[in-house]
Amino acid sequence: MTRRVSIFGATGSIGANTLGIIREEPEAYRVVALTGGRNIKSLASAAIELNAEIAVTACDDLLESLRDALCGTGVEAAAGEQALIDAAARPADWTMSAIVGFAGLPPGLCALEQGATLALANKESMVAAGPLLIDTARRNGARIIPVDSEHSAIFQALNGEKMQAVERVIITASGGAFRDWPLEALSEATPEQAASHPNWPMGQRITIDSASMFNKALELIEAKEFFGFSSEQIEVLIHRESLVHALVGFRDGALMAHVGPPDMRHAIGYALHHPERSHLPVERLDLAKIGQLNFQSPEPGRYPALVLVREVMAAGGHAGAAFNGSKEAALDGFLEGRIRFTDMARVVEREIENISVDDRAKWTMTLESVREADRVARVRAQETMDALDG
Ligand code: NAD
Ligand code: MG
Repeated sequence: MTRRVSIFGATGSIGANTLGIIREEPEAYRVVALTGGRNIKSLASAAIELNAEIAVTACDDLLESLRDALCGTGVEAAAGEQALIDAAARPADWTMSAIVGFAGLPPGLCALEQGATLALANKESMVAAGPLLIDTARRNGARIIPVDSEHSAIFQALNGEKMQAVERVIITASGGAFRDWPLEALSEATPEQAASHPNWPMGQRITIDSASMFNKALELIEAKEFFGFSSEQIEVLIHRESLVHALVGFRDGALMAHVGPPDMRHAIGYALHHPERSHLPVERLDLAKIGQLNFQSPEPGRYPALVLVREVMAAGGHAGAAFNGSKEAALDGFLEGRIRFTDMARVVEREIENISVDDRAKWTMTLESVREADRVARVRAQETMDALDG
């Protein structure tokens, strides 16, 4: 039976890996929607090759170019934020959520409303609106399968286990581009330097978030929201090799570790074939050759994001949206050269101070309330950055 699949963020790093897996067995799938941003050429060529029903660019101004690129192929073209949501409303059995940033939330929610299985790479939506996503899935009989490597690892380690038996989870982190830099050099780090990851090839934004550990901070919230762990149960360990992705500790003292190469095709393929395990074209590890695996606690002071996130987890509710929104704005500021690498944490810290002041943590959660928390956080981040500029 062919499965209907849609891929949101098809032109990105996760999107390309997802397309790669679909290409291995094209007759098994009918591609409904593929979406992208400014990269019209690669969006159109993938849509034509896989005979998608529709291709959507997030950018309104690129509708004409997309139409031109798809002319005569039978693939529909659309553009803009509403078109992304409309595409998510088209029936599909499996939808990959791989847009980067908060923009992934509305189509992800819409896919869940259709009862689809949502493969969730877009961690920002779980961070900003975890309770809303989980509740929407529950109400519509939809499933969310995590695609973040650590969360896929936890998901797999929990197979057949009772949640009450879990004592703790350990999420590993490579330490990012600056793990061996002297602390005093960090304030001079450039976006190009931050965007080079020691182990994983990924999109630019998540790679810089790995250097600052904001990515790991988002993943702690993602684990709390997705699995329902408390903040105290979730630990972070630096693991330079990026081969053990996460470990789940049970009350009998056992630790179940997930070990595999740093290749997102594993987590994507697992989410695609779940609950089966199918052949995947990933490297088979030669542990004798690897010889040793190293673990260490994160050095205090190097990663302020890991401290800030604990306050966000304690606050709950809309604190996640505020955290993510200010982090995204601060990352834009760093990429634009407005603020330093080390200022990103200062911008987010300022926002966290504000969360307790205006009590956003306690608002009732809807898509609109989450959008508002995100918007306010971005405005406030601009103000903080202006102050840092001046
Ligand atoms: P990427 O930058 O390579 O690709 C992002 C995709 O989103 C592109 O298709 C782009 O066109 C689209 N996009 C960007 N802005 C958009 C907007 N405003 N509206 C609609 N579409 C937009 O990113 P990536 O590395 O593939 O990451 C995608 C998501 O997966 C992120 O949430 C990231 O945190 C998560 N993730 C990625 C990896 C990885 O290995 N790359 C691992 C774990 C989780
Ligand atoms: Mg991850």
